Amino acid sequence: MTVPQHLLLVIPPHSAALAESAGHLVDAEVEHPQLSVLDVAATRGDGIFETISIGRGHPQAFDAHLARFARSARMLDLPAIDETLWRDAVLALADRLADHDEAWVKIVLTRGIEGQPAPTGWAYGTVSPEFRRERTEGVDVVLLDRGLRSDVSTTSPWLLAGAKTLSYAVNRAAVREAQRRGADDVVFVSSDGMLLEGPTSTLVIRRGEQLATPPDAFGILPGTTQVDLFAAADQWGLSTAVEPLTADDLFGADAAWLVSSVRHAAPVRSVDARPLTVDAPLTAAMNGFLRARTA
Ligand code: PLP
Repeated sequence: MTVPQHLLLVIPPHSAALAESAGHLVDAEVEHPQLSVLDVAATRGDGIFETISIGRGHPQAFDAHLARFARSARMLDLPAIDETLWRDAVLALADRLADHDEAWVKIVLTRGIEGQPAPTGWAYGTVSPEFRRERTEGVDVVLLDRGLRSDVSTTSPWLLAGAKTLSYAVNRAAVREAQRRGADDVVFVSSDGMLLEGPTSTLVIRRGEQLATPPDAFGILPGTTQVDLFAAADQWGLSTAVEPLTADDLFGADAAWLVSSVRHAAPVRSVDARPLTVDAPLTAAMNGFLRARTA
């Protein structure tokens, strides 16, 4: 039997708590559609997700992704996450992707069909695309004003800054704006001038022997890849800092990366068309470390 490359595990409808059954596994390419057109995932982007990297069958930063999924559920007033159920769903797909060096599984929980009490959940897995160019040559980024102050999560928690929601249309629009400006990716800046994050990544800079990243308190997603890299930094002789950074810190950095679960560490080779040094040896070490994680 050939193993399908697009795997879907549908979590049965559930109300306050998720159902005990781990759902059924289907080939997403050949089975009939599973999502109702009335689901608020489709009509309002009202739900949460996580994308988990799978290295040779091992979900990476697994506990951190599940903890962040639970945090997003709390922020959106969704039912509490049944961690065992979601863990089993990811493992079931990861197991079937174990022949591949790099794959990913996306888990999604939505508020369900409008007017009905049961949320919808599913896990989808597939093989990762090739990222050699981004991981070695790097990406050109532009700074884009997000239009929100860095204290947005305190002043306006209903904006859900820092939750991993399905409403990513703005993030996609930002990447299209970057492309219009001849770049590949974005670093968002708060309206009060603080560096934030990429549309699907965390910003990490190197200043001398230190790696630095902006704090989650600025309404950015707490990145699992950044946390793993910082935990490994001393093996590269580097200290770490989580602190406010401005555009000048990025322009003056010795190197910078956009880091994320599936693409891993993409060095930044220019910011608003001003070249930045690509630290090739450290980038290779980071990506080697990220690929080899088994938990
Ligand atoms: N920030 C945003 C907005 C993201 O969407 C992501 C990942 O998709 C990240 C940061 C990086 O998070 P992680 O390293 O956990 O993939």
